[in-house]
Amino acid sequence: MNLAIERVRLTPVLVADPPLLNTQGVHQPYTPRLIVEVVTADGITGVGETYGDTKYLELARPLARKVTGRRVSDLNGLFRDADEVAVDASRVVGQADVGGLRGVQTAGKLRLSVVSAFEVACLDALGKALGLPVHALLGGKVRDAVEYSAYLFYKWAGHPAGVPSEPDDWGAALDPAGVVEQARKLAGRYGFTSFKLKGGVFPPEEEIAAVRALAGAFPGRPMRLDPNGAWSVETSLRVAEELGDVLEYLEDPALGTPAMAEIAARTGVPLATNMCVTTFAEIPEAFTRGAVQVVLSDHHYWGGLRNTQHLAAVCRAFGVGVSMHSNTHLGISLAAMTHVAATVPDLHHACDSHYPWQSEDVLTERLVFEGGRVAVPDAPGLGVELDRDRLAFLHRRWLDDDGALRDRDDAAAMRAADPAWVTPSVPRW
Ligand SMILES: [Mg+2]
Repeated sequence: MNLAIERVRLTPVLVADPPLLNTQGVHQPYTPRLIVEVVTADGITGVGETYGDTKYLELARPLARKVTGRRVSDLNGLFRDADEVAVDASRVVGQADVGGLRGVQTAGKLRLSVVSAFEVACLDALGKALGLPVHALLGGKVRDAVEYSAYLFYKWAGHPAGVPSEPDDWGAALDPAGVVEQARKLAGRYGFTSFKLKGGVFPPEEEIAAVRALAGAFPGRPMRLDPNGAWSVETSLRVAEELGDVLEYLEDPALGTPAMAEIAARTGVPLATNMCVTTFAEIPEAFTRGAVQVVLSDHHYWGGLRNTQHLAAVCRAFGVGVSMHSNTHLGISLAAMTHVAATVPDLHHACDSHYPWQSEDVLTERLVFEGGRVAVPDAPGLGVELDRDRLAFLHRRWLDDDGALRDRDDAAAMRAADPAWVTPSVPRW
């Protein structure tokens, strides 16, 4: 068996994205993703997926050259290679990560986000070579299905007039009734039983009313609200007070570990984060100060599936819960999330996933939510297959773009509707 990587194929794509609102602006009509394929000397192909913005692609290209010849089983070597790839400092210094929605950007985080897709692709190829599912390579599944939550967004019915986009059938959700209707559709189509609302869009009173309406429509179900750090400490405490009886947790109500620690000290509502704990280096301060009770891992920026397991172990040692964050992603990443989530013993919260919002994919068969869960694939590797025609179609869209959509910019997308829009400074409320 020759497991050496003979070549790596990088395919940037643009995939349709509905007009989902957040505190920075609105999703663009098409969002970039990068598909990574490693091909072994035996002709086995493994696939991975990560952020597709230019800075990730610029890093993936030299890494692809560097890992050629390395065996797909040599994951530690893969990470050493990534450490040696230079990052253009202008790409990270002073820049917030994806509109500031997932913490501070660093060169290290950028590297991890890229190498994570290579790690997943190597595991997929190794699994195929050995006839084992990825979860088996990670120590074996401890559950047969992984639970996901309904990820609710304030949303326009469509992208602004005149902006090329794909239509969607979700309708608008701009008030409590609209949010409840969206939740009913998501629950009806996919069986979700816990609900997360992306907040930070409207004044807190409106978002409190939306969560109250959800709790009324789905009594006893876990609720989460995530304003991406848009609130002050005092506002966060007020929301915690008003929604404490229905919240499973409040997610990143305020920005940064000191603010989160102050809120945590003054409320019994658990706090979750994918913004103030995004690297191992950020853990000691946050955990020793009791700033967060749940860390939302993301295998992309934590650096892959094994790092996600390491994070879960650290969380377990500190009595901190663990679950999963999601940015816009395709089925390859959902499969990767499902495999690693299946191996984490103390996963006590449903994971987040944008997947229901993505009508387009690069797979021959979409992954399916049943009863809010994705069955853990037992086929070799990730258990997914690339649809080369779809991949080519979405890559063609990327090639045809003049560059305006190749880097996600939610504020720019918002300016198509509101030319005066500037990214709000935080705390916004
Ligand atoms: Mg979040």
